[in-house]
Amino acid sequence: MIGVGLIGSGFMGKCHAMAWNAVHLAFGDTPAIRLVHLGEANADLAERRAGEFGFAKASGDWRAVIADPEIDVVSLTTPNQFHPEMAVAALETGKHLWCEKPMAPSFAEAQAMADAARKSGKVAVLGYNYIQSPAIRHIRTLLDEGVIGTVNHLRIEMDEDFMADPDAPFFWKHEAASGYGALDDFAVHPLSLIQNLFGRVASVMCDMARPYPDRQTDSGSRRPVETYDIASSLIHLENGVSGTLLVNRSAWGRKGRIALQIFGSKGSILFDQERFNEVQLYVTSDRPTEQGYRTILSGPPHEPYGRFIPAPGHGLGFNDLKTIECHELIAAIEGRPANVIGFDEGLEIERTVHAMARSFEERRWVEVRG
Ligand code: NAD
Repeated sequence: MIGVGLIGSGFMGKCHAMAWNAVHLAFGDTPAIRLVHLGEANADLAERRAGEFGFAKASGDWRAVIADPEIDVVSLTTPNQFHPEMAVAALETGKHLWCEKPMAPSFAEAQAMADAARKSGKVAVLGYNYIQSPAIRHIRTLLDEGVIGTVNHLRIEMDEDFMADPDAPFFWKHEAASGYGALDDFAVHPLSLIQNLFGRVASVMCDMARPYPDRQTDSGSRRPVETYDIASSLIHLENGVSGTLLVNRSAWGRKGRIALQIFGSKGSILFDQERFNEVQLYVTSDRPTEQGYRTILSGPPHEPYGRFIPAPGHGLGFNDLKTIECHELIAAIEGRPANVIGFDEGLEIERTVHAMARSFEERRWVEVRG
């Protein structure tokens, strides 16, 4: 039996709750899951969400969730600025932790979280769900098998339009307390894919932009936007691959794009999260008369697609990625090999985005581990 606590019940809180509810049904090999205690910013909201999500207890104080002896794992899905204090408290109380990305607004706080995880001996995993898709796993297999030869260049872009409307109101993602914006909100996701598929980034040269300088508040006044919505970076990986990483939270028309182009000596691979049940593969070994991108639709041969649907081409959805992530977290808790980004690996992603910010501020190339 695994007792679960959830702190925060917004967008990601609901995704974690759905994953905890689905993981045993999908995989059939986990211990029974018990949804024990949900914490929110106030008691009324906590009560309501606990009822909706199926948690036995509710509290308007997150510390009560962490102190609950019936809880083994805490799902932490509050805004970024709360992660450090809540994560360290959960680990020090002896709970395993599933914490949403990014780790923290500052690198020092992220380091303190990684230190607390190491000291606790507990499992601490970050919510980098995109590494879990069967298509991305298949891309890793294609790369490992050398199907496109030696990779020499990659381009990765993450774009959404939830901040594209200049009249949309000011909220917590516009506050400097949440971090840089484009970098720690968005760039961390492509970096999780890069780290998962290729390893660490060695050096970066980054530019950032703020398309709308202020936004309307609830009181009707205008408040300056303190974060950046756009970041463009040149990158060099430790394995010698060069590339670009471009992110934009105000890109009208883009809804959930994480577009990856990988170029090798014998072919190339294309992927876009907006169509994440598809991989495009081009190989020079095809006859010249038939060369072109082929579309590979995800299906049961691409693990763990078949745990959800026995028929190919029917497609997984975003919440299934969270369920797969939850299953990997349980594997890690049980001491089995797991495809997760733990706090030590997550710290490398944080190191990279802070190097990008330094590059922007100092207008120069920066060594990530310099
Ligand atoms: P949200 O605003 O939808 O939800 C945050 C919730 O936390 C709200 O319900 C809020 O009331 C609650 N909260 C705030 N202060 C609290 C406190 N002191 N105690 C308890 N609850 C509190 O935000 P979101 O979009 O779910 O983002 C939450 C985190 O998830 C962020 O770190 C974000 O970066 C991350 N996120 C990850 C992904 C992903 O793909 N993995 C996607 C979106 C967001």
